[in-house]
Amino acid sequence: MARREFARNQREQIVERAKRDGVICCEGCGLVLAGKPYEIDHIIAEALRPEADKQKPITIAEGQLLGKDCCHRGQNGKTRQDVKAIAKGKRQYDRANGLKTKAKAKIPSPPKSPEPAPKLDFTRRRNLYEARS
Ligand SMILES: [Zn+2]
Repeated sequence: MARREFARNQREQIVERAKRDGVICCEGCGLVLAGKPYEIDHIIAEALRPEADKQKPITIAEGQLLGKDCCHRGQNGKTRQDVKAIAKGKRQYDRANGLKTKAKAKIPSPPKSPEPAPKLDFTRRRNLYEARS
């Protein structure tokens, strides 16, 4: 099943929840965002959720408001950690199910021709300056 997204009213509820004294704060680190960019994050990345979970409608408890620069993107941001975890999960799944792909696909070399190409005689030259008859 596809990635579930928060509905508009759910995003509003999460934003409201993240407010401290009327100012939007990062739910990851508490930084006062006041106009800084933020994103609504899936606390558990959708790609890591079992299919059974994804049959249920998403709730605001599954989301958090993260500052884009402090917690969501960036070197040790949530997204980067999620991407790592997703890749690891895929590798583990493939190994457990015997789906491990070969490290490198070998590019096939062209088949060898059975007999060598006839040697061309470059010693004989056509006379380019011969008068046409
Ligand atoms: Zn933060």
